[in-house]
This record gives sequence, C-alpha cells and structure tokens, in this order.
Amino acid sequence: MGSRILVVEDETDLAELVAFNLRGAGHDVTVAHDGNTALAEIQRSQPDLLVLDVMLPDISGLEVCRRLRRKAQTVRLPVIMLTARTDEVDRVVGFEVGADDYVPKPFSPRELVLRVEAILRRTIPAADVEGPQVIALGELVIDVPAHRVEVQGEEILLTALEFRLLLDLASRAGRVQSRDVLLERVWGYSPNAETRTVDTHVKRLREKLGAGAVHIETVRGVGYRVLKS
Ligand code: CA
Repeated sequence: MGSRILVVEDETDLAELVAFNLRGAGHDVTVAHDGNTALAEIQRSQPDLLVLDVMLPDISGLEVCRRLRRKAQTVRLPVIMLTARTDEVDRVVGFEVGADDYVPKPFSPRELVLRVEAILRRTIPAADVEGPQVIALGELVIDVPAHRVEVQGEEILLTALEFRLLLDLASRAGRVQSRDVLLERVWGYSPNAETRTVDTHVKRLREKLGAGAVHIETVRGVGYRVLKS
C-alpha cells in the first residue's frame, strides 16, 4: 500500500528525481518548491510523510519543520530532511527542529526510498497497539491509542518518535533499557542513529514533559528507566 508523500525541494531536477523514485516504490507523490506552498499543501492534503530540503527560497526547511511541530495536527507528521551542510545536521537531529531523520546530500534516490519506508513502517497505527491502553505514572498520563500525553491535565505535544520513546520506556517501567536496545526498538533502521541520538531525544522529551520528567531516570553508563508510579 502506497503512502502520500510531499516532496519539498526548489531544485526542480532533484525534486523530480526524488518524486520519480518514490512513485516507482508505489507512493503517491506531490511536489512543492517552497516552504509556504508546502505548509498550505500539508494543511490541504494531510500527507503521510514529508521529504523536506533545508534550503528553500522563502522560509527554510528548518522553520517549516519547527512550525509543524508546534501544531497538534502536524506534530506527529513524519519528516525526513535533506541537508547539504554538515553543520545543519546537529540542528536537524539535535531535534531543535524535531525531524524524524535526515539524509545528507548528495544521496542516492534508492537510499532515500529505504529511509522513507523505514519511517513509514515504524509509524504504527494507533489501532494496532497491544498492552495497556492507558499508562498513568502519577501526574503523567499516556493514552496509548489516542497517542496523547498529559502532565497535570495539560496535553504535551510529542513527535511520533518522542511518543514511541516514552511509550517504550513507560511500558517497561522499573526496568533499565540500554541505549542500544532503545535504538533498535524505537528507531529501527537508521544509519544516522547513534547512542548520542537517544540521549538527545531523552533530553528533549524531559524538557517537554516538565514536571512529568521526574519519572525518567538516567542509569549512568547503561541507559534509562521509567520509575513505577
Ligand atoms: Ca533546495
């Protein structure tokens, strides 16, 4: 089953090459050549995934991603960023921006297609969740099928990746999870994911959870543990 993918890149040859390869893999692809058009298109057609270049003629891809992450409707939209400069990578994967993954330019279209499919695979439909439907840890409440997280009654907007990380830890409360195990279960296939990636995401998750962050404990030299209640 193909997914609906929006490709945002102002270099038309590259945009077409990416679109061609994604269509070849069975996806339904739309192309936008600047950031504002992309934002309007996302609102209109609600794609399943975004391939987003950093360098765009109007607003940068970083800003596009930041804006998507501020809204409940798009905070979980999977985003793969195309980066041309290595100094962009830390901002993209530093999750200041909240992208799910990145592909450095130049890249092979085949590699990009593989990354897209890996991300689509790990975007689990809410209906498929097994185990408890609601996990409550004091004032931190995770409504699993709704993908909704609340701390002291206030909804916290998490990206799809942040939600899966929290859920993975919370559903194994009381047990330490190593960075390697978390990488395998939460990230799946991603050549860019390193143990540092886990730390960066946990940091970001803690910031977002505020008072709820007390439930995530760092186990020095090993990994992380969510404390029971
Ligand atoms: Ca560009």
